[in-house]
Amino acid sequence: MLSPVPAPLPQTSLAGVTVTYADGRAALAGVSLALAPGEQVAIIGPSGAGKTTLLTTLACAMRPTAGQITVHGRDPWSMSGGDLHALRGDLFLAPQVPPLPPRQRVVNAVLAGRLPQWTAWTALRSLVHPRELIAARDALAQFRLEDKLFLRCDRLSGGERQRVGLARLLVSRARLFLLDEPVSALDPALAGAALEALQQAARERAATLVVSLHAVDLALARFPRLVGLRDGKVLFDLPRAAVDNALLAQLYGTELGMSFQAPPTADDAQRKLTRCL
Ligand code: ADP
Ligand code: MG
Repeated sequence: MLSPVPAPLPQTSLAGVTVTYADGRAALAGVSLALAPGEQVAIIGPSGAGKTTLLTTLACAMRPTAGQITVHGRDPWSMSGGDLHALRGDLFLAPQVPPLPPRQRVVNAVLAGRLPQWTAWTALRSLVHPRELIAARDALAQFRLEDKLFLRCDRLSGGERQRVGLARLLVSRARLFLLDEPVSALDPALAGAALEALQQAARERAATLVVSLHAVDLALARFPRLVGLRDGKVLFDLPRAAVDNALLAQLYGTELGMSFQAPPTADDAQRKLTRCL
């Protein structure tokens, strides 16, 4: 029996957020973004645009220099330490290269996604006798890695490490998924399947999903809303159908001579078929 979809959480948003690093440069400059509960949004833009900084800020791991951040309806930076800890357990930032302890077994690396719900004692015991083995194996199976359950993390390839980090997200209880270029080390077939697994998991738990993607074709193919970030500013925030080649050329710089196209829809395929007949 399917479990009922949990009730939606309040909105998550940034209002005029600026983030400045120690060298004084603004990596984000006055960014505003509202995410409806359960929404799935892709962030695209050239290297250095501020995508990682944006996700890290939404993860409450970096405090804005100016502006207002709201996560699940609350201001994380005016919370007590305990409340902030609880809020962080409700979200999950998947870094592009997940920090996996080299000597740890894959099963424990995946089950680390449960840490916010476990006591220190439960966590320690699980290192010796992993709890919830089936949950870990099921999460790995979503990324075709179930046969690596007991392997050490330092024996994994880059793409496998990336997928272990994503399996960790699936076993977590997070309802805000923040994914930083989550499929950059995967081949196209695995990348598509991994994004499908993440998007499906988000739908099932009514989680909000924000993903930065290097591959514009994947963003166009899989996400209804695209945010184009350049030089720390939102250049556009549009439904997929409104994102055209001219905008993408502006986003990545005019030197980019390639053409981006969303994959054909069923209607396009039908039209092509009609033309052939
Ligand atoms: P993206 O993920 O789009 O490549 P980032 O958010 O990583 O962009 O970086 C945005 C800008 O902030 C870049 O100019 C980058 O050099 C700078 N930056 C990122 N991290 C740091 C840091 N820890 N210290 C100083 N500058 C940084
Ligand atoms: Mg980045």
